[in-house]
Amino acid sequence: MAKIIKVQCTGSGQHVNEIDLDSILGATVVLHGTPIDTGRPIPERIVRRCDVCSEGRVILTREMIEENLY
Ligand SMILES: [Zn+2]
Repeated sequence: MAKIIKVQCTGSGQHVNEIDLDSILGATVVLHGTPIDTGRPIPERIVRRCDVCSEGRVILTREMIEENLY
């Protein structure tokens, strides 16, 4: 079951990016993670490029991810 989080980019356009939680938790390099019941750690913070513009960044915090997991 894929979970999607919608996050606005930091650029002037504030584009809404749909972030697939599975892709984040499956592939991200983890510095300081806390194990969850899937056995996969959640990173403190994830920064991605906006899908739409080149200036924007899409920032997810662990709190945002956890809110969407439970
Ligand atoms: Zn953008």
